[in-house]
Amino acid sequence: MESEKSRGNLYRAATASFDFNNPMDSLTGLLQLASDLLDAQKSALYEFEEDPAGFSPRLSIGISMSDLGRVATKPKHKVLRTAFEDHRAATTEDGKSSLGLPLSPGIVACAPCRSSDQTIGLMFVAREDEGPFSDSALATLEILATRAAEVIALARQSANQSYVLHKLSLLYQASHAITGTRDRQEAIKQTASHLLKATSADACEVLIFDEGSDETTRFRQQLGKSMQHTVVSVHGDNMPSYPAHEKVIEDLEPTLISLEPAIGSSKDLTLLGKEGVSAAAIFPLATRNEGLGLVRLLFHQSGRQINDQELELAQAIINIGAVGIQDAIHLETAESRANQLQTLGEIGREMTSTLDLETALENAMTYTQRLLQAEAVVLFLLDESGEKLVIKASGGTRMRIRDVAIKLEEGIAGWVTRNNTPLIVNDVRGNPLYHSAIDGQTGILTTSVLCVPLARREEVLGVIQSINHPRGAFTEADQQLLTSVAAWASIAIDNANLFQGVADERRRLEATLVETADAVVLTDNAGRIILVNQAAGQLFRINPELTPGRLASDIFVGHPLGDLLMDDEISLPAGLEVTTPTERILYATISGITDVGRVAVMQDITALKQIDRMRSQLLGTAAHDLKNPLNAIRLGADLLTDADLTDQQRKALSMMQRATESMANLITGLLETIRIEATSTVDYEPCQINDLVSRAIEDLRPLAEARNQTVTFEQHQDSILIMGDPSRLNSVMTNLLSNAIKFSGEGAKIEVTVSWDDEEAIVSIMDDGPGIPEEEIPRIFEHLFRGRITVIDPNNPIEGTGLGLSLAKTIVEQHGGRIWVETEEDKGSKFSFALPLEPTPKTGSLRPE
Ligand code: ADP
Repeated sequence: MESEKSRGNLYRAATASFDFNNPMDSLTGLLQLASDLLDAQKSALYEFEEDPAGFSPRLSIGISMSDLGRVATKPKHKVLRTAFEDHRAATTEDGKSSLGLPLSPGIVACAPCRSSDQTIGLMFVAREDEGPFSDSALATLEILATRAAEVIALARQSANQSYVLHKLSLLYQASHAITGTRDRQEAIKQTASHLLKATSADACEVLIFDEGSDETTRFRQQLGKSMQHTVVSVHGDNMPSYPAHEKVIEDLEPTLISLEPAIGSSKDLTLLGKEGVSAAAIFPLATRNEGLGLVRLLFHQSGRQINDQELELAQAIINIGAVGIQDAIHLETAESRANQLQTLGEIGREMTSTLDLETALENAMTYTQRLLQAEAVVLFLLDESGEKLVIKASGGTRMRIRDVAIKLEEGIAGWVTRNNTPLIVNDVRGNPLYHSAIDGQTGILTTSVLCVPLARREEVLGVIQSINHPRGAFTEADQQLLTSVAAWASIAIDNANLFQGVADERRRLEATLVETADAVVLTDNAGRIILVNQAAGQLFRINPELTPGRLASDIFVGHPLGDLLMDDEISLPAGLEVTTPTERILYATISGITDVGRVAVMQDITALKQIDRMRSQLLGTAAHDLKNPLNAIRLGADLLTDADLTDQQRKALSMMQRATESMANLITGLLETIRIEATSTVDYEPCQINDLVSRAIEDLRPLAEARNQTVTFEQHQDSILIMGDPSRLNSVMTNLLSNAIKFSGEGAKIEVTVSWDDEEAIVSIMDDGPGIPEEEIPRIFEHLFRGRITVIDPNNPIEGTGLGLSLAKTIVEQHGGRIWVETEEDKGSKFSFALPLEPTPKTGSLRPE
């Protein structure tokens, strides 16, 4: 009966089925079965734990778990030793010997839960003291314990698998969330929040090293009021300098520090204590190329610390975080670089698109302040004395100051100006250059300064100073930006100065032109009026204000001035007399002005003309009135020639005859000059130059021969025709040739040549006579001028009137030609005149002068 029952028990123990998908249910079922089959009032299941090694209660029936103690791995009790060493179930013999065993007092039996040759648990049963458990009962307990071992092993395995799954899914989510964002803050937040999900840490801090700033930006993820994790950034809160942090940055390996148990240097522990943290796991936040910062996982409860699995998972998430954060930083940098470039472009446009320097600089400073995110940006310019720097423009929310001046010897701005070198001072209080006086005037408490010179071609004009970096420290990159702004600013200042100079110049010129007594008309290259000054307006009876933009030919209708200002054929400069509708006579000079057009400057010569006319009239009358008495004297003298006279009387008579002769010549010359000058219109007819020259030579040959002189002229085969008045041109030739004969000595050689090109013919009369002293050359073409040579021999003065060359000049110019002399004392003279092959039918010379 007994054995039947025990066989049945064995059978049930081995075959009873449980839901193995639910390990807890299965284990409870197995323990319950043990109690039932073995008539035990109490039973318990222990499971092995590695840290610290030993067995802990997992399930109990008939007794509270809290009443159950742990079982060590090296137990003293015989029952336990049998279970551990022989891997068999054992029972106490009586109630007393169960002391020190779980479930005691009573009869206690224990069986090891064996799986893969390891004891991973213990199964205990206990009942009132009714004598030890039978062998078959122990066998039943062994079976049940082994089955429990299977369930535990299975559960562990599946827990392991699900942990791996859990880890993979966390990593997947983390990488999705972190790398999916383009925002640095968001990447940091996601990293922190996934770290808190993956570990049992109470807080997570991400410290990003900020380039250009000594501080690190800290983000702390903690439970917010809404029980949602929030990331808070902790500014200005300097991270205590943990030796452990340095080590992590250096080794790029995670490190753990904790108070209980004490791990880490004493400084680390002190700092940890101060922060109110019991343990911290510190990880490097780094990509392969770059250390970005640190991550700290903090534990507040004493004795808690990250475990190996968490550590591994955390590092994986941090690695993903590093990549995501760095991406975001790169993107941010690229974006901010692009924004900066755009703003720089705007600043450049702002400064070069307007000539209103004040507004341009003011706007540029506002842009610059935004660009650098500084508290203020100020532009100083050197004043005219070069001793002071004056604020000319500023940008910043609270900044609207101008014209505040500082001395050149003072402050950072002064230093930068004097040295023409940019300067960054990120701690002004510690810098001797800093001069706090300016703060009083700007109302800003300066902490950091970036100052760059504003230079134009080596010359420093001033500085641009950026005050107070948003995060405390200006960088090289900021300096580059501000230098670019300074370059734009100096171009703007340069442009404005140039423009101002041009505008001033223009105003001066306009004033001069408008108010000058001479009449002035200015046109553009198309002949449109730019300016008619007051004098011109009055003389031509036009309103100067209505003329700009209209064609000169429309304003001066039917007047030669219209043509002169518009005719492309005319070579400039040109000069001529014009008569105005107000009957005034003007001498107009028309010149071309490069890139502008033409200008006519006209002097009123009416009065001069009148005086000239009066002079001629007077001279004419006087000459005329002298002519008759002189003729009477000459006639009388001629009559005396045949009279009987003494030698002395004859000498006196011949002197009288010579004097009257020369006087008559003078009068004839004067009358001729007056006549020719008075009638400026020439009777044109075709003249052969060759004939002109030959005739004059033939006429004067007897004179030359009387002095043994030779006159040569190699006549050209070609006929050279000019248009002109033959008798007047003959008088030019005769005058020049007779001078050559008259002034050159006995046996002189005189040569006449003719040359020509497309435009003009040139006749030259060359002698080897005395030449003309240099100081006389400018005067020889004047009326009545006679040179020293004429009186060198007082006994034998050279006859003449001083009218020959002036007359020749008048005639040549009336023909649109020019006359000149090349001469050297004691070597000879060469008089030349040029006549246009096509005469210009206008008064005065329109040929280049
Ligand atoms: P005139 O011959 O009647 O003196 P001109 O007007 O012809 O007056 O000449 C002016 C002056 O120029 C002369 O008095 C003379 O001093 C100088 N002159 C003119 N032709 C010559 C010449 N061929 N050689 C030297 N001197 C000359």
